[in-house]
Amino acid sequence: MKLPTIGSIGMRSRLIALVAFAMIPLTIAFVCYLWVDHNQTIAKAKNDVYAAAKLAAAIESRVFAETMTLLEALALVPAVVPSGGSECSSFIRQIKAANPLYNTVGVVDAAGTITCHNSLAVRQALSDVDLRDRMMAPGAAQFLVGNFVIGKVSGKPTVITASRFPQAQGGFTGAVFASLNLDRMTTEIEAVSDGGERTVLLLEPDSGRIIVHYPPLLGVPFGAPFPGHPLTEAVRGMPGGGTAEVSGMDGVEKVFGFAPLSSAGNIVLAVGEDRSALMAPVRHRLMLSSVGLLTLLLVATSAVWWISERMQLRPLRRLMDAATGIGSGDFAATASLESWQAPELRKLGRVLDAMSRKLSIGREAELVVAASEARFRALAENTADLITCTDATGRRVYVSPASRDVLGCEPVELIDMRPRDLAHPDDVGIVDAMMAEVLAGRAVAGVQYRVAHRGGGFRWVEVAGKPLEDGPGTVFVMRDFTTRKMMESQLAEANLKLEKLASTDSLTGLANRRALDKQLDAEFARAVRAKTDLSFLLIDVDSFKAFNDTYGHPAGDECLRRIAGALEENLRRPGDLTARYGGEELAAVMPATSSAGAFERAEVVRRAIRDMAIPHSGSSHGVVTISAGVATLTAGAGAELRDLAGLIQSADVALYKAKASGRDSVVAAAA
Ligand code: GH3
Ligand code: MG
Ligand code: MG
Repeated sequence: MKLPTIGSIGMRSRLIALVAFAMIPLTIAFVCYLWVDHNQTIAKAKNDVYAAAKLAAAIESRVFAETMTLLEALALVPAVVPSGGSECSSFIRQIKAANPLYNTVGVVDAAGTITCHNSLAVRQALSDVDLRDRMMAPGAAQFLVGNFVIGKVSGKPTVITASRFPQAQGGFTGAVFASLNLDRMTTEIEAVSDGGERTVLLLEPDSGRIIVHYPPLLGVPFGAPFPGHPLTEAVRGMPGGGTAEVSGMDGVEKVFGFAPLSSAGNIVLAVGEDRSALMAPVRHRLMLSSVGLLTLLLVATSAVWWISERMQLRPLRRLMDAATGIGSGDFAATASLESWQAPELRKLGRVLDAMSRKLSIGREAELVVAASEARFRALAENTADLITCTDATGRRVYVSPASRDVLGCEPVELIDMRPRDLAHPDDVGIVDAMMAEVLAGRAVAGVQYRVAHRGGGFRWVEVAGKPLEDGPGTVFVMRDFTTRKMMESQLAEANLKLEKLASTDSLTGLANRRALDKQLDAEFARAVRAKTDLSFLLIDVDSFKAFNDTYGHPAGDECLRRIAGALEENLRRPGDLTARYGGEELAAVMPATSSAGAFERAEVVRRAIRDMAIPHSGSSHGVVTISAGVATLTAGAGAELRDLAGLIQSADVALYKAKASGRDSVVAAAA
């Protein structure tokens, strides 16, 4: 299994670890308390069992003291003698009957043979040989307590006590003895045993035999020796009494208190209490405290789990989500936290929200700018007009692709150039004025000048420009209008031609009747206004019908053209107008020309035509001739003459007169 690294431990686990660490002192205090509790319980138990042992030893000691008193008293009774006898036996029987504390009562002689007994008739040796030997020993004590034995007479386990007959000069003479009824002693012990809760026993430390054991030891015969037993060893080690924590004769761990019987120094009374029973309340408290501590730990951990989830992890996840959103460009996620969350986290949330809002506004603006820029580019790059932007110094920073058509250059070639750089030398002034105007913040439109085209020659362009609204710089739209300019001049030419055609007679090339009428109106009005002369000449070809008939119409047309040429050639003053009046009739308007002057000119024309000598067989003159009538509006003429129709009429009348005079002549109307 792979151990987690410290960096992979989450916040919640860290908080729980913190709580666990915070609970360490509590746990230490808990362990100390348990240790003290344990020790106190043991100490108290030792005190208790020791006190109980001393008390019980005192009680049991009384049995031996009373027995000593009884036996010493018996030894002084006259009937009770070492040699025994029926009187002795009868007395002893009475004593025994009155004292249920004893199994048997009797007398031994100097040889240790029972001579008097409460029930035994036959003489026999005392069961407790050791006791007999001790009694017989010189300087032996007056009262002796024997070892644990099985009474030969009663067949019961017992301890024999003996009191020697008072000493004479010699040695041992005999003794009165009583074997104790251990059942009765057990009854005494029961009282100390606290209803069997405690183990109470009488022990003979030297042999390790148990004299009395309560409660009875199951399967262990009375008086069984436990020589190497720890309790025996402990008791031997403390002859004056004490306490020990050892296992009992039943193998159960116990706390023992023990004290020697004051009246029977070789017997010790021990009171033991089961360790496990003693420790039961300690274990109970340990269990309760452990459950409490674990519950506390569990509750604290759960609380930390819940609180950390609600107050740390959840808001942190929200903040993390918002931050991640901002990082990936999603500004919709908000990180605002509930008002009960920690102020530090809420502040962070507010900061993230504000950041998100600002970025979102920025992006919207960016999108708007990008959209308008895209629209501008789409417009700029898809129009035939050349669109350029310049910086504040007038140098181009943007050039649209229409530069290829308009100027024959790639857009990039024009970057950093100024508009004047490609202008026609004659038009540089126009361009400079235009730039000065736009850079001063005023819009211009319809500026026309010529620019050099990469393909050769110059192109006419029309330019509109204005300063940029949102920063330094300008924008210009340049349109190639060379074609339009050409078309314009062609149109003007055509119009001129048309106008000429409309006022020209197609056959003769002179002005036609419409132009003549217009000119006559204008010149007549001017002559009246300026009070100048105005002469009008009317010409008719002589016998032209006959010419046509003779030479054909095409020849007639050619003849008319030559006559018109002659007319035009001889009336060359500026302001003179020669025109075809209609058919084979021609006319001329001669402003500021007197009647005499007009007549003279008419004569020159007449002679010139006759001199052309165009053959005309149908004419009496043999050549083509003309007749002419001249009428003049003089400056000083009366109001009746001031009438254009009258002027024409006069010329016509004069013409008729010329015809009538034989043709090939000029007649001037009378003023
Ligand atoms: P006169 O004036 O001497 O009295 O005789 P005329 O033959 O000229 O008389 P009239 O005025 O009757 O005849 C005019 C002729 O001029 C008729 C027509 O055949 C001819 N005429 C008029 N206009 C044109 C024209 O444009 N071309 C040609 N070929 N002939 C024309
Ligand atoms: Mg005519
Ligand atoms: Mg004629």
